[in-house]
Amino acid sequence: MTDVNRRIKIEVMDRIKRKDKMISLRSLGLSYGSIAKLFNCSRQRVHQIISGYKLKRNKETELLFERIKQRDDNQCQWGERCKGEEVWPGNLIIHHIDFNNENNNPSNLITLCKKCHLYFHSFNHVDKKIEKKLQTQKWREGIRKERIKIKCLNCGKIKKFYPYQAKIKFCDRKCHSEYQIKNWNKKAMKIYKLHRTGDSIQDLMKQFSMTKDGIYKAIQRAKKLSTS
Ligand SMILES: [Zn+2]
Ligand SMILES: [Zn+2]
Ligand SMILES: [Zn+2]
Repeated sequence: MTDVNRRIKIEVMDRIKRKDKMISLRSLGLSYGSIAKLFNCSRQRVHQIISGYKLKRNKETELLFERIKQRDDNQCQWGERCKGEEVWPGNLIIHHIDFNNENNNPSNLITLCKKCHLYFHSFNHVDKKIEKKLQTQKWREGIRKERIKIKCLNCGKIKKFYPYQAKIKFCDRKCHSEYQIKNWNKKAMKIYKLHRTGDSIQDLMKQFSMTKDGIYKAIQRAKKLSTS
């Protein structure tokens, strides 16, 4: 093996190890931010590495995703984290609303910018692995197996959670994301109606404390919703 080949091999191995290390730290409950500090890279990078961001997609999916971006006017459809910013097309991501990467039904796909996309993935949701760890830890510490009941704001189902999860308002991140999108659609329809019955863009900006761009986006979105 030549020196160059050996060096390449070491580098590849290091990368694989890095991903494994990040995943195991994450499953221990460390935040993306603290993992980033350990590896001296950005929080976004950690998220990308862990979620297998560079997944190879086939041509068909690639084309479908392009169509979804066109459907969404090549704009972030959430717009809360990128308010007033111009988002580069390269920074647009197709997000799966139900978090199932295999469900490529157009109604399950939405165009988001990188910032808003991270928000969708950072919901107050404790994943199963961490939950298991916490469970055993708590059990070892002899803490009573106390549970609190929480009613999901989206589906109305009642689910039991640990007391440290009292802030959770949804049964899972799928419900959380559905709820956010439903609310955003409702708000957009309201803005559109008010605009049609004579409220000016300026009025609406004040009323909803939104930017001009935000109001226009809402109107565009509502128009599409009411025709589909
Ligand atoms: Zn955005
Ligand atoms: Zn996503
Ligand atoms: Zn729910």
